[in-house]
Amino acid sequence: MPEPILRIDGLKKFFHVRRGFPNPKTVTVRALDEISFEVQRGRTFGLVGESGCGKSTAGRSLLRLVEPDAGAVQFDGENVLRADAEAMRALRRRMQIIFQDPYSSLNPRKRIGAALSEPLLVHRLAGRREAYERVVALLNEVGLPADAANRFPHEFSGGQRQRIGIARALTLSPDLIVADEPVSALDVSIQAQILLLLRRLQESYNLSFVFISHDLGVVRYFCQDMAVMYLGRIVESGSIPGIFEDPLHPYTKTLRDASPVPDPTARKGFGRIEGEVPSAVNPPSGCHFHPRCPHATEVCKTTYPAWHQVDDRRGVACHLYGT
Ligand code: SF4
Repeated sequence: MPEPILRIDGLKKFFHVRRGFPNPKTVTVRALDEISFEVQRGRTFGLVGESGCGKSTAGRSLLRLVEPDAGAVQFDGENVLRADAEAMRALRRRMQIIFQDPYSSLNPRKRIGAALSEPLLVHRLAGRREAYERVVALLNEVGLPADAANRFPHEFSGGQRQRIGIARALTLSPDLIVADEPVSALDVSIQAQILLLLRRLQESYNLSFVFISHDLGVVRYFCQDMAVMYLGRIVESGSIPGIFEDPLHPYTKTLRDASPVPDPTARKGFGRIEGEVPSAVNPPSGCHFHPRCPHATEVCKTTYPAWHQVDDRRGVACHLYGT
């Protein structure tokens, strides 16, 4: 198998936060608890899970927008977590992010042309004239007219703003993009347009993606490989066809059965995950999924299951396998 463009190994991030009223105490949120995965060059790797499972922290940690506590991030052979400031600047050119809400990351007082040309000027990759021409070309590439450069963020719809977010991520010609819920705030018809755009750009530029989403249907459409996260850990990973045909982990099964399918009568009656997601401050003992799992046994309540590698790509953490 070719070398992956991104290799994550044992990535860990705990947040220590003050909670409680009137006597706040410091508690530990186990956002990422030693996750590992690989992204192949030119492919899209989906990170899926319910809200609060740690998938966004994973995306930000591998770019060091959040500093991980432990683990390793290898990007194209370079150790990202050991990179000094100068090396990190060079790496950031090649690793970009698209946010769920691009509006919050755009300066409302800055015209789009100025916002998009800024990285080119900061990295001294172009003069003003050249940067402006590149911005206009990028706007066209993402389906916006050249005069969008002269407008302010509030003058665009949600879908148009996401196109601007994509253009900005492309400004420095990256190799890898972390897309953090890039379509979840959009109407379904706009979602489809943005996903088609991302797919076209991926083919044109041989981009690799880490695609973060709570929506298994979107991940199925857009990704080739995926990992399912639950309370800060990966519980199953593999290729999209393999996981959708034959999900191994009970949590993956319920997520799959709950996701929309073209045939509304298919898998009817399945797919409800009973109970709330437990807190990442105080996760259940043993397998964190055991309070919601229909297959839980006594060992599940006391012992976290070891990772069972099924083949090159496929792995699962569940006592039903490899014991
Ligand atoms: Fe269910 Fe046990 Fe597997 Fe956890 S380890 S998913 S509780 S069967």
